[in-house]
Amino acid sequence: MSVNASSAQSVTRPESVIIVGAGIIGASTALYLAREGVSVTLVDQHSIGWGASGRNAGYISMLSRAPGAELELAQLSRSLYPQLADEIDDFEFQANGAVVFYYEDQLPLIDGFVARRTADGLPMEIVDGDRARELCPLLPEDVVGAIHSKSDCYIHPGKFTEALVAAAVKEGANVVFADGLGLELRDGRCVGVDTSEGLLTADAVAVCTGSWTSQLLAKAGLPFHLVHLRMQMAQTAPVEDTRFDVAVYGPSLFHEYAFVRELPGYDDDLVLHPLQHIMPEVGLLELVCQRADGRLWLGCPIEFVDGPDDSQEPTVAGMAQTFAVLGDHIPALQHLPVERIWAGIAPQTGDGKPVLSKVPSLPGLFIGAGHAYGATVGPGSGRVLADLVLGQEPSIDAEPFRYDRAVITEGVSRSVTLG
Ligand SMILES: Cc1cc2nc3c(=O)[nH]c(=O)nc-3n(C[C@H](O)[C@H](O)[C@H](O)COP(=O)(O)OP(=O)(O)OC[C@H]3O[C@@H](n4cnc5c(N)ncnc54)[C@H](O)[C@@H]3O)c2cc1C
Repeated sequence: MSVNASSAQSVTRPESVIIVGAGIIGASTALYLAREGVSVTLVDQHSIGWGASGRNAGYISMLSRAPGAELELAQLSRSLYPQLADEIDDFEFQANGAVVFYYEDQLPLIDGFVARRTADGLPMEIVDGDRARELCPLLPEDVVGAIHSKSDCYIHPGKFTEALVAAAVKEGANVVFADGLGLELRDGRCVGVDTSEGLLTADAVAVCTGSWTSQLLAKAGLPFHLVHLRMQMAQTAPVEDTRFDVAVYGPSLFHEYAFVRELPGYDDDLVLHPLQHIMPEVGLLELVCQRADGRLWLGCPIEFVDGPDDSQEPTVAGMAQTFAVLGDHIPALQHLPVERIWAGIAPQTGDGKPVLSKVPSLPGLFIGAGHAYGATVGPGSGRVLADLVLGQEPSIDAEPFRYDRAVITEGVSRSVTLG
């Protein structure tokens, strides 16, 4: 692939685009651009979904998105998921909502949470303990109720990433496995990527390298400040006698989101399991879902780590907290065989919002990165980034996702939380 440098100066609608990073964001962007007739080359240093996209829980978590731009992006993405489920290979799209189960201890929080989220436009209702157990038969008798959030969904993230890439390839995209060593700059413009397999050039480049974005952009003198979160998962053997198709959350979830902690009546002691005080450095997005093959996925401890190349192996503290809290909250889980545990690194920006943006100082360069909840917003982010690359107005306001915000270019603190 090559580009005529003189025509590149005047291009507004690129004919060719290199996307670095075959995670959910790069793959979604690749599909939407390829469908518009753009010649797409998708580059990854490892394999499709090797990063966080092949390792996540697959929750399309509407109920935990902060109000405003974050929720708007999630709603765009949520509207695209059913179409993708019809159009691309199967990725186990489950659209029966999520339940957040709770005990008497959490009752003071529930009405306020549901009122807030309903006002934000999210369809949800409070159900009693019996209905909660119908939706998820694993839940014990002392669960007094659940919030049923109707627009939440879940997917198989690895299958989803593979399906997006396969669909993009059917539309003509090329996939290249190579290490993106640096951006190729000519006459103040980004015209390609230098890779371990040689130089690739195109009319535009989209950097969708997840947690590794700071490293690639730094080589072009562009700052990109992130904090890094190690998150972990476990998989049980298939559970044959119990089936459920809602995404399940436990009450520890409430602790992880800033907008929830600001609700009237919130108190850590209402939501944190006593064991969580022993390992305060580890947060827990308490979740259980059942895959199509009957296996359960359990998660999801969160720890700050120094960088993207920190260990992507599960930790004792993370797994201890997951098994202890979930095992206590849902005793039916206690004796299930554990088949597999794994971890991944997800990026987080200082204001919780990803970057979906051109780079004003470097024409030809676009960024789709900084996603801490990329399964939730992936298709929406891909759609917005594809529109920006094409010079089209996105269907939502992309200003909040600009690259040149201070939290991205100047820095973030480690006290950043998920929402
Ligand atoms: C355990 C876990 C659970 C999670 N659960 C959820 C959840 O339930 N819901 C949710 O919404 N989000 C969840 N997340 C977060 C979600 O996985 C990420 O937000 C999302 O996958 C980010 O996608 P991405 O495409 O930006 O990055 P990634 O998937 O990390 O992809 C980046 C890709 O870029 C490639 N790359 C990097 N640098 C280069 C280079 N120089 N050259 C070539 N290739 C390069 C990498 O190999 C990688 O494949 C979870 C994350 C983890 C780890």
